[in-house]
Amino acid sequence: MAQDKRDYYEVLGVSRDASEDEIKKAYKKLARKYHPDMNPGDKEAEEKFKEVNEANEVLSDPEKKARYDQFGFAGVDPSYGAGAGGAGGYGAGFDFGDLGDIFGSFFGGGFGSAAARRNGPQRGESIRASVAISFTEAAFGCEKEVTVERSEQCPTCKGNGCAPGTTPEVCPDCRGSGTVTRAQRTPFGVMQSQTVCPKCGGTGKIIHQPCPDCSGRGAVRKRKTIKVSIPAGIDDGQTISLRGQGHAGRNGGPSGDLLITVMVRPHEIFRRDGTAVFCEAPITFTQAVLGGELEIPTIDGKVKYAIPEGTQTGTVFRLKGKGIPVLNGRGRGDQYVTVTIETPRGLNKEQKDALRKFSESLGENNYEKQKSFFKKFHK
Ligand SMILES: [Zn+2]
Ligand SMILES: [Zn+2]
Repeated sequence: MAQDKRDYYEVLGVSRDASEDEIKKAYKKLARKYHPDMNPGDKEAEEKFKEVNEANEVLSDPEKKARYDQFGFAGVDPSYGAGAGGAGGYGAGFDFGDLGDIFGSFFGGGFGSAAARRNGPQRGESIRASVAISFTEAAFGCEKEVTVERSEQCPTCKGNGCAPGTTPEVCPDCRGSGTVTRAQRTPFGVMQSQTVCPKCGGTGKIIHQPCPDCSGRGAVRKRKTIKVSIPAGIDDGQTISLRGQGHAGRNGGPSGDLLITVMVRPHEIFRRDGTAVFCEAPITFTQAVLGGELEIPTIDGKVKYAIPEGTQTGTVFRLKGKGIPVLNGRGRGDQYVTVTIETPRGLNKEQKDALRKFSESLGENNYEKQKSFFKKFHK
């Protein structure tokens, strides 16, 4: 913890003027590399993973990124809250008539919009998480559990921050609005600005006896394991969003969302492009010559497929409907199988003689491809 934080751009390995797309790509690559599911038990990877996620949370959000660019960590540190946010102006359209006793004080730097937001219902922040699943789990869908740490409404005080049996007092200085208007005489006239009410910190209320369980914050940090139903046909890098499963909102605002990015582990024999599945089928020299029935692996299990006599290496055949189900739709893609011929090795003398005899018996007419190839490139 005492360790200095690394610059977010440095963490993601991108330049300060990187595009949204570049940031997204860099994040995906690193999140995958350091994901705990990909590095079980590796503490260092886990730390890196957290660091990468934190950097992404800021740099992928245009508003937070702008604050980070301008103010560094102070601009995005949660303890600075929304206060550091609204780098707004001095707020036009104030009531010039109501200067009161605040006349002559400073004008604070544009907390206007932030203050307004602090006091009203505020939607909770979204949480980003990721989950690694297998190739077939992606194809057919699965249930996974994701553990997140999120802020939830404090059950003791129901979010109002007061000890049981007590209620908050409406702030007398701002009358509950959370903001106060300040004015200052300058060479250009009277300048006015709205700032966060210093008495209540912008919340509009005073808590005399804070709730013992949340220290008056109204929210508590909870580790939560959430079941995620991953739909059939999902692809690597796609995101599932669970509405309302993010951080709790403030002042009665709705909770944020939980955004789960799915990472699909590569399969030993299948590759995928959209709903199409690709694989190779090694066949023997004899099968290629004589044809025969093969057992082809598919994501549903083995299927029988008859290859014709004289099948060439590189031939692609299609298994209709054996691909990936269409995400949130109907039907399935196809599977494409590329034939490769495995040449026998380590033959004994007898076998070699038999092959030579066989080759002589073929004569010249059987190798059209070879003949035309060497004709084309003959000098
Ligand atoms: Zn509480
Ligand atoms: Zn106040």
